[in-house]
Amino acid sequence: MRWERGRRSQNIEDRRGGGGRRAAGIGGGALILAILGALFFGGDMSSVLNQVVGGSGGGSILGGGSNTGGPVQETAGEKAAREFVSVVLADTEDTWHAVFKQAGTQYQPPKLVLYRGQVQSACGMNTSASGPFYCPGDYKVYLDLSFLNEMKQMGAGGDFALAYVVAHEVGHHVQNLIGTAGRVREMQARVSKKEANQLSVRMELQADCLAGIWTHHTQRRRQFLEEGDLEEAITAAAAVGDDHIQRQATGRVYPDSFTHGTSAQRMDWFKAGLKSGILDTCNSFQ
Ligand SMILES: [Zn+2]
Repeated sequence: MRWERGRRSQNIEDRRGGGGRRAAGIGGGALILAILGALFFGGDMSSVLNQVVGGSGGGSILGGGSNTGGPVQETAGEKAAREFVSVVLADTEDTWHAVFKQAGTQYQPPKLVLYRGQVQSACGMNTSASGPFYCPGDYKVYLDLSFLNEMKQMGAGGDFALAYVVAHEVGHHVQNLIGTAGRVREMQARVSKKEANQLSVRMELQADCLAGIWTHHTQRRRQFLEEGDLEEAITAAAAVGDDHIQRQATGRVYPDSFTHGTSAQRMDWFKAGLKSGILDTCNSFQ
């Protein structure tokens, strides 16, 4: 995937630095260790103190992005992943701005929150174990970059696989804006558990289709796809399909408890959006 020249989004909220719960809990012991470490190993004291007390610069490496924590320490791999996510997010903004505009309305982009370990959202406290998610209550996508390693372990590595995951979560944001999410929640409150699950599946498949629309428009705008990219997305959709996860976990498949759809369904809906680039194609509720 060609991404380096892409526009960076201003809507990344980096909570990986201080100010989060984990960092707020840094004790005197850790401070002393950090200072001793700097003294003994010749580190830079001012950067250590900045790191511990929150520094003056506000800490955001991302120009213009809002930041609620202290300075962010990141590896080269994390830096590249953050930049990559920022470009994908910008591409979703450009795509959905255009699609909404064509429909005579205005797109309000979501914030994407980067966190480590656990995070507080309007949807409660979540750990990275639950994977990337979108919270309709605060219009934000939440992502712990360590999810990349899990994807690799699931056999869904590669840059486009990650892009697909981000575009899928932004798809849930689009569902929130166009009212699908609210209508589905209302319906789910009135039906059986089994039917509520089926509605969840349809929501997920629609988000896959919306990720396909994003791919379609971004490709038209700046030919970003490289050989093998679509296969990566399809592998990612397959790897995170409910049937695959259930089979890996239990060796069996129980269709009634699906909430994301089978691997084949997810691929089909992604392809449908990719091919047409039009919202109407993504009516998975018919
Ligand atoms: Zn989803």
